[in-house]
Amino acid sequence: MLKINYLASGGIITNYKCSSKCKHCVYASSPSWPNDYMTSSIADEVFSILKELACDNVHIGGGEPLLQPERIYPVLESARRHNIGIDYLETNASWYKDESSAKSVLRELMKRGVNSLLISIDPYHNEYIPFYKVKGLIEACSKVNMGVFPWLMDFWNDLDTFDDSKPHSLEEYADLFGEDYLRKLPKRYGLNIRGRALKTYKSILEMEPFDRIIKNSSPCSLLSGIHHFHVDLYGNFIPQSCAGLSIKLSELWQGADPKKYPIFYRLDSVGIRGLVELAVEEYGYSPKAEYAGECDLCHDIRSYLVLDQEVDLPDLQPTDHYRFL
Ligand code: SF4
Repeated sequence: MLKINYLASGGIITNYKCSSKCKHCVYASSPSWPNDYMTSSIADEVFSILKELACDNVHIGGGEPLLQPERIYPVLESARRHNIGIDYLETNASWYKDESSAKSVLRELMKRGVNSLLISIDPYHNEYIPFYKVKGLIEACSKVNMGVFPWLMDFWNDLDTFDDSKPHSLEEYADLFGEDYLRKLPKRYGLNIRGRALKTYKSILEMEPFDRIIKNSSPCSLLSGIHHFHVDLYGNFIPQSCAGLSIKLSELWQGADPKKYPIFYRLDSVGIRGLVELAVEEYGYSPKAEYAGECDLCHDIRSYLVLDQEVDLPDLQPTDHYRFL
């Protein structure tokens, strides 16, 4: 059985759609996703299970949750009904128009238990979002006493060097701060190099022979991690740092059948070797000579199953993750 008895800290992905298509996004969010939000009934189910698993607080993220603020209110109201606290809500500030309309959204959020916003401040988001919106939102937060969790202040001066009325590409950053800027960016940001981030940085990662990856295979402990998990709008448990993999939370806490979730089960119990064997034997996957590490191999197989073989497996949901990478 795949089973989790306790969850410590995690987040709710209320929607995958986003105003931006940032190059570092592990969840592959973008404007292309369907405009779906978590419903009140899914939220009720998810929060009641989280409560059973002793998880009393969550953060809210996306996608961009505030693309349509009124559509996350039912989720926040459900959290309150189940006595689940909101640590913070993540936003990229793209929705900011002016102080007065921002303050009215902030007041609605505060009424529903959100007392802190994590606001993205980094060159990846600045490719899409002018910095004046971030500054304006921070100012509006201070006017209504909404807490701000700036992520990351270390980039403030870099962004502030440019004209804040428009977005700026990563190439502009490299032109101004030097070629090394982009190479050092993942470490400065503390980037998890999976999902779209892996696609972005693959060309500069060290390649590893396939045979060596298989030889070093061991169970992926991240999959059953109790910290920094997510539950998405469809009720999928998304393991810590590994988007594109999922188990219905409603099954996971009771004990999910490994036969129904063969990808998840193989990775969790054997590791990448188990997934390769399954993909080769049952789906005709042909391994390449080398990969940028085991996560690159893992993602390559999963993309092959979803996009080339069009296999509809419950542990590779939502499949748009692969389409909109
Ligand atoms: S091998 Fe796959 S499941 Fe394991 S950590 Fe990497 S991406 Fe996640």
